[in-house]
Amino acid sequence: MSEAVAAGGVYVHVPFCRHACRYCDFHFSTLLKRIPDVVSAMVREAELRLPQGLPAATLYWGGGTPSVLPEAELVRLNQAVRAPLALAEGAECTLEVNPEDVTDRSLALWRAQGFNRLSVGVQSFRDERLDWMGRPHRGRDAEDAVRRAQDAGFSNLSLDLIYGLPGSGLGEWQEQVGRALDLGTPHLSAYALTVEPRTALSHDVAKGTAAAPSDDRAAEDFRWLRAELQRQAWDAYEISNYAKPGFRAQHNSAYWKGSPYVGIGPGAHSFDGRRTRRANVRSNPGYQKALAAPVPAEWFELEVLSDQEWFHEQVLTQLRRQEGLSRAEAQGRDLDGAWSSWIRQGMLLADDQGWRLEGEGWLWADAVAADAFGLKV
Ligand code: SF4
Repeated sequence: MSEAVAAGGVYVHVPFCRHACRYCDFHFSTLLKRIPDVVSAMVREAELRLPQGLPAATLYWGGGTPSVLPEAELVRLNQAVRAPLALAEGAECTLEVNPEDVTDRSLALWRAQGFNRLSVGVQSFRDERLDWMGRPHRGRDAEDAVRRAQDAGFSNLSLDLIYGLPGSGLGEWQEQVGRALDLGTPHLSAYALTVEPRTALSHDVAKGTAAAPSDDRAAEDFRWLRAELQRQAWDAYEISNYAKPGFRAQHNSAYWKGSPYVGIGPGAHSFDGRRTRRANVRSNPGYQKALAAPVPAEWFELEVLSDQEWFHEQVLTQLRRQEGLSRAEAQGRDLDGAWSSWIRQGMLLADDQGWRLEGEGWLWADAVAADAFGLKV
């Protein structure tokens, strides 16, 4: 892939967490003593891949948990990533943080390092749910973290919440969302609990020691959230993302629109804006070893998407957006025919511009997309 392409966004994957959450299948390690070595490798990758003056619209640090980085390591990595970038004045720079890491001192450091948006992993405000998920913070810690962040000048804050928890009811979800809205943050990401393979939760569900989440329960929470936030004039701009006007996440929005991005760190992905994806090895020791060599061994794999694969990705990604899939993106394919039943049932709106999910259709995004894949490309 051409690394000289302007990076629409730069993503930094910090592959460490203090604890393993029961449901999580992201790439992370809890061996925090390895942080300095892995950061050294990430600094090297940044030096190798980010040319001086690279234009970047946004910067996003995710993981894992970027907020676990000790001060010196965060500063070292941030310098290596930012030094070559030509970031526009006021560019969105997001740091994912967990409530237990948010202190007045860490907030001051993050601001001084140029982060202007925090994404806070709240997940639930109820302690018994946090215990069930394997999260170390308390519900009160999350509220305290958000207020501290606001006091420190972070007005652009996003909260993550999880719905459809086994044993929960709609009343609990309404209370959770109410507590989030009371904090006055302008962005919410809400995800249904899913059982991913090879997670502690999937083992526990298989053994019968944890209840599996119910699709009907999740659907009830989703329906209510979407309707309620729209009633409150929020922008329901993506299937899992909601913003007050003007607060859409710019980094993720560009990613969904197929803009190029460069991902640094173990397990990070990159995209050249055309057809080539690049996936860094999902192993901290493997990544570190490859980048520690005088001539780095390959620490990534390239994948060139076929027309069909690109089309499938476009359908899956664009249907999840409020704007839907445009006719230009369909490139002449007869999707009105493939989707006639969804359109007839009012779950998909078709017009001159393209196709957008409507009403109950939002609960069937994957099934709608799958019906487009039966087409010959
Ligand atoms: S959910 Fe977040 S904090 Fe928990 S293990 Fe996954 S990446 Fe780490």
